[in-house]
Amino acid sequence: MQKKPFVSHEKLKEITAKYPTPFHLYNEAGIRQTARDVYGAFSWNKGFREYYAVKACPNPFILRILKEEGCGVDCASLTELKLAEALGFSGDEIMFSSNETPAEEYEYARKLNAIINLDDITHIDFLAEHGGLPERICLRFNPGGELLIGSVYMGQPDASKFGMTRQQIFSAVQTLMQRGVRRFGLHALLASNAADNTYYPANAALLFDLAIDLHSRLGADIFMVNLSGGVGIPYLPEQRMPDIARIGEAIRETFEKKMAAAGMENTVLGTELGRFMTGPHGCLIATAIHKKHIYKEYIGLDACAVNLMRPAIYDAYHHITVSGKEDELCDHVYDVVGSLCENNDKFAIDRALPQIDDGDLVIIHDTGAHGFSMGYNYNGKLKSAELLLHPDGSFSMIRRAETPRDYFATFDFCDILKGVL
Ligand SMILES: *Cc1c(COP(=O)(O)O)cnc(C)c1O
Repeated sequence: MQKKPFVSHEKLKEITAKYPTPFHLYNEAGIRQTARDVYGAFSWNKGFREYYAVKACPNPFILRILKEEGCGVDCASLTELKLAEALGFSGDEIMFSSNETPAEEYEYARKLNAIINLDDITHIDFLAEHGGLPERICLRFNPGGELLIGSVYMGQPDASKFGMTRQQIFSAVQTLMQRGVRRFGLHALLASNAADNTYYPANAALLFDLAIDLHSRLGADIFMVNLSGGVGIPYLPEQRMPDIARIGEAIRETFEKKMAAAGMENTVLGTELGRFMTGPHGCLIATAIHKKHIYKEYIGLDACAVNLMRPAIYDAYHHITVSGKEDELCDHVYDVVGSLCENNDKFAIDRALPQIDDGDLVIIHDTGAHGFSMGYNYNGKLKSAELLLHPDGSFSMIRRAETPRDYFATFDFCDILKGVL
């Protein structure tokens, strides 16, 4: 089975005539459509907001598109907050869902009046000292145990470092109410890349129950339930995209049954989708530059795990299309590899593909989230450019490629490297 790239061979030729590979290419039309689908799915909830998880694709041009579509941002570090600030996000448009948070990050988040999402009960005093307690706050819940939806095992919250126990949530709310906090949000992220329609409604039900308990036992005003991220995408060609309209509808039914019945119909829903928003709308474009035959057949690319780390660290599948050979028979079996001195630097292992020749353009799919942003600089390899394909077929550079000067920039306090700059 094949996956259809969002960019044609002709367009890719046009783009690579101007910008050398490797680069990540994003599809503006796709990103806007997904944002509209998400807002459509939750339009029944007044005040709903998607807080795009900035770590998935921290590019200001991408964030600007999402802002135009009505999204807020979910940040977890000082630099992510600064990105948000530069783009004009503030107040309720920013979730600060951090953990093990340094003092200056809480201070910065408070300055922007972001919605602080407290990861731990001990952070109440810490935040009070560093930035001060706000009027409204969100609390991150970890239900512990094993997460089963129906009979499907979804993960092990009790082995996750995030969030507070149920008991801690109750004491945190009590303490915070005594200390003047008036409104509360609840948040949980219990799965990653859940590519079906059941995870999000299950997470919603869990949080609605907690919200109702807190409201009825402590009189807490629950202004928001934040379902966080974790909705997956079809990396494999035989998988399907989760049906966000159906997911939204299932959550609406639970909301009616639980929240509305408890008189909490004004509670606003939030999401912090990252992967689902942009994952399928990005790809890594590389050129095949070497062919090697030893015990296996290798295709060497001009990209490497520095540009896309997921296959190396998660064994993740990313579909590959050889541009211009979409209709050719996949009668060769290759390991498609990068240039790091690391044997896990393989984009694909034993993958059936058409014959690949030096100079062929290779499209590595679904890199629009947790792709470029996870990159690192091992072997002194440099990060690539990012390009944006606009709805009218034009394209532009939205981040230039790194140069050695960028790599050496942190030695600007001395002149040892002056000779190579
Ligand atoms: C990573 C993360 C997300 C986004 O996760 P996706 O899998 O990309 O949807 C949302 N919220 C928090 C707090 C996260 O850490």
